[in-house]
Amino acid sequence: MMSGAAKIASGSWPSHGLNAAETRESPLLQINPDTISSLGLAWSFDTGTRRGLEASPIIIDGVIYTTGDWSRVFANNAKTGELLWQYDPNVDRAWGVNACCDVVNRGVAVEGNQVFVGVLDGRLIALDIATGKPLWETLTIDRTKPYTITGAPRIVHDTVIIGNGGAEYGVRGYISAYEIKTGDLRWRFYTVPGNPALSPESNAMEMAQKTWTGDVFWKVGGGGTVWDSMTYDPELDLLYIGVGNGAPWNRHIRSPGGGDNLFLSSIVALNAKTGEYVWHYQTTPADTWDYTATQHMILTELAINGEKRKVILQAPKNGFFYVLDRTTGELISAETYVPITWATHVDIETGRPQETDNADHRVEFQLTKPAPFGGHNWQPMAMNQKTGLVYIPAMENVSMYSTPETFEYIQGGYWNLGQNDDLNADNPMANISPTLANAVMKHLLRGRLIAWDPIEQKEQWRVEHATAWNGGVLTTAAGLVFQGDGAGYLSAFDATTGERIWRYNVGNGIIAPPVSYEIDGEQYIAVMVGWGGAVGLLFDQPEAVGGGKGRLLSFKLGASKTLDIEQRIRIQPEPPTRSNNEASVAKGAALYNAYCMRCHGINGIGSGVVADLRYMTEGSHKLFDDIVLKGIFAGLGMVSFAEVLDENDTADIHNYVIDVANEKWQDDHSSDLWIDIRNSFYDILGKAASFFL
Ligand code: CA
Repeated sequence: MMSGAAKIASGSWPSHGLNAAETRESPLLQINPDTISSLGLAWSFDTGTRRGLEASPIIIDGVIYTTGDWSRVFANNAKTGELLWQYDPNVDRAWGVNACCDVVNRGVAVEGNQVFVGVLDGRLIALDIATGKPLWETLTIDRTKPYTITGAPRIVHDTVIIGNGGAEYGVRGYISAYEIKTGDLRWRFYTVPGNPALSPESNAMEMAQKTWTGDVFWKVGGGGTVWDSMTYDPELDLLYIGVGNGAPWNRHIRSPGGGDNLFLSSIVALNAKTGEYVWHYQTTPADTWDYTATQHMILTELAINGEKRKVILQAPKNGFFYVLDRTTGELISAETYVPITWATHVDIETGRPQETDNADHRVEFQLTKPAPFGGHNWQPMAMNQKTGLVYIPAMENVSMYSTPETFEYIQGGYWNLGQNDDLNADNPMANISPTLANAVMKHLLRGRLIAWDPIEQKEQWRVEHATAWNGGVLTTAAGLVFQGDGAGYLSAFDATTGERIWRYNVGNGIIAPPVSYEIDGEQYIAVMVGWGGAVGLLFDQPEAVGGGKGRLLSFKLGASKTLDIEQRIRIQPEPPTRSNNEASVAKGAALYNAYCMRCHGINGIGSGVVADLRYMTEGSHKLFDDIVLKGIFAGLGMVSFAEVLDENDTADIHNYVIDVANEKWQDDHSSDLWIDIRNSFYDILGKAASFFL
């Protein structure tokens, strides 16, 4: 059943999810519950980076191929860690402003003598496997639009498949197949319709067009980006793609006359040779919450009511775990794997979710579960054939959704969501203090590992993590589940009970999925270590460890190399005096949340991966306008915002940042009892809020 099984017998990890079915279940048995106590560090390699590392490494013939930030590629000896070659595509750092969720990359694809990497700025590059020298390069996007690539390519037949991201800023999604040998385009499948005045590119787009209304969607782009998941079934010769959210998010603005807006938030099955549409299943019709269906998909066979069915499994952001017949796209079952408020259930006959009143945010804002981070994000899950369980790196979270009276499309580093929470002062969260907001958020963001029975559609066990944002998952035939967490630990759990039976402190947050391979009779567990990504940048989670050295680590039995863990102590310089201009600070807060918070952190509180502005030096304060308007740090990824902000705006943002910095300074330098009392009050308030939501 598991295609690619012959290949993995040699102990390699040849493709993104290990095999075509992307089960991420290693067949290796040497590391098991009896031996794991002697699992130690075999080698470590410093990537020379401090941003998020999300790659799933590929291991073939004793070499481990992986990627760092800014789409850099590394090839190392998988036994010793020695660097064999590295390749830097030299992405213009200014392109980073188009990356919604850090300048990350989820890994390469390898076929024959070529290594393929999708680059943040939209290029697809083939490298020579022995030297890392480029063999060909092709531009997959229109550079006048804010597209990015963060996903790993997949190899199907003689083509390399890649999608793209950018729906928050406003682009039209598609996926393309390029000839392995030449980089020539073989086929392209658009996921949402373009300008209705032009003839649709395919029958599928003709069908999709009927589910959209108005003229906002195609001007903004419509979204539907295929930014991460793809799975290939060699038996059916179908390529399954996971399609993302709409642009803008708000359905009432995007398609004011209603409609399901195909193929947003859908799994679409394509003919793997031609890219032609075969079937689709839409997880969230007319999505309005950023509930992408781009999450990892696993192909397997399940006995459903005594009948063996070829199925596809997905736990998308919307909180339902889906089992679909992968031949036809028929819904077999769907149950919630995390608490949700937007729907009661999925109707099995129609395959449609039954929305609740909470789904309507036209008149009043709604607090809705899950948040745009989803019940599950890009971090891959894994399925163990012996336990029959799927291990989901899940999250429980909540967010506010609203509908503004007007919508204006803004180009240049701005999230065009069609929400009130950006420039509009009606946002209740914008009017509470950063300390309170963070105390509340602490209780509304949770991360857990869930063992899910896909036949019974129920949870078997769970492990609550200290952090909301954690790593992807590996399982092994020896009955183990491996996952890293934001607090900097790589752990092994018993696949049947969830008992933690091993852990190792790596000193920096882990978001990438571990992989396993074998060389000279020894089994290894490898993982990339580097904190960041969407939630990593946005929230300063108290238990998270971020900003440390980016690394590739590999573990084996009997090894005991020690890892030098940096002690990073951040000392806040005394901030400039607070402005007494409350109106300016309030305006600065709104502008900060519109343009700055996705990298520098929500409510002015950074996670330490990208500069935490509360820690700005006197020099940075002096250069504030030059940094924001002239782009003097563009080489580091901080571009000029002169197209969308002027000197009055930067003065407001600066006043806000100084205000937040002073709040921290006063908290840290005051022994007043009332601060302790206030913090415990916020703590109780946060707990109460989380109870009611
Ligand atoms: Ca999104």
